Amino acid sequence: MQIEKNTVVQFHYTLSDAHGEIESSKDSDPMLYLHGHGGIIPGLESAMEGKEEGAQFSVTIPPVDAYGMPREDSIQRIPLKHLQGARKWKPGMMATVQTDQGPRQVTVVKVGLKQVDVDTNHPLAGRELTFAVDILSVRAAEADEISHGHAHGVGGHQHG
Ligand code: ZN
Repeated sequence: MQIEKNTVVQFHYTLSDAHGEIESSKDSDPMLYLHGHGGIIPGLESAMEGKEEGAQFSVTIPPVDAYGMPREDSIQRIPLKHLQGARKWKPGMMATVQTDQGPRQVTVVKVGLKQVDVDTNHPLAGRELTFAVDILSVRAAEADEISHGHAHGVGGHQHG
């Protein structure tokens, strides 16, 4: 079966940039996603199109099709009372905050008594990324996966 819209793809990946390996899924469960719904970065999703189970390939993705370019006005000051657990945050750690566009991964810059400064740029913003991908399986999505817009199961969305 070929990867096309509304197929569920299970894959392992190793992510690297010009400086070397950043992370790999191979030490844990493979990734699972519903193709055609923006569940993975755009450059990787378009590289997946038409591939089959067992395919291995490598793709290099410019920042604009990965995590975007870093913005200069990316430091935001947020009142601590709006953030759960933020009193335990430490500078340099990754955290998730809720925004109008949904949850966003940020880097903690400074934790004050009443507010926290975070950098809203994704840590991989501005970087050209290379994914080495092994396609493990491709299947047709279930109706509830299509209506939810994500894959169900290990490595995907697990309800409850
Ligand atoms: Zn669901």
